[in-house]
Amino acid sequence: MDEKKLSHFKKKLEEELRTVESDLADVGRKNPDAPGEWEAQVKDTDTASTEADEKADKFEEYESNSAILEPVAARAKEIQHALEKIASGTYGLCEVSGERIEEARLEANPAARTCEKHMRQGKS
Ligand SMILES: [Zn+2]
Repeated sequence: MDEKKLSHFKKKLEEELRTVESDLADVGRKNPDAPGEWEAQVKDTDTASTEADEKADKFEEYESNSAILEPVAARAKEIQHALEKIASGTYGLCEVSGERIEEARLEANPAARTCEKHMRQGKS
């Protein structure tokens, strides 16, 4: 892939990563023990009247934040993986066959790991 296209996809990935990370920051925080990992976090609210109510509310909120966070955190990892591939010079190559990934597919999903043929077999 030529430099111009590479920087085009890199820009798209970096922009998406910023959006994704700001979404993640709403419901969680970066896990200090695991770089690149996110965990759900409940912000302090004083709406509950009793301590038991507050615990129940926090648990519920934690659960719902986790449900929101998980797919978004997975997406952030995919984007980071793609950025690493750019850095190592393997971006745009199918991880199953090593063939070039169709550009239309990369336009639709710049973090795609595989070509269209191998898309159904892989996780991407
Ligand atoms: Zn392939």
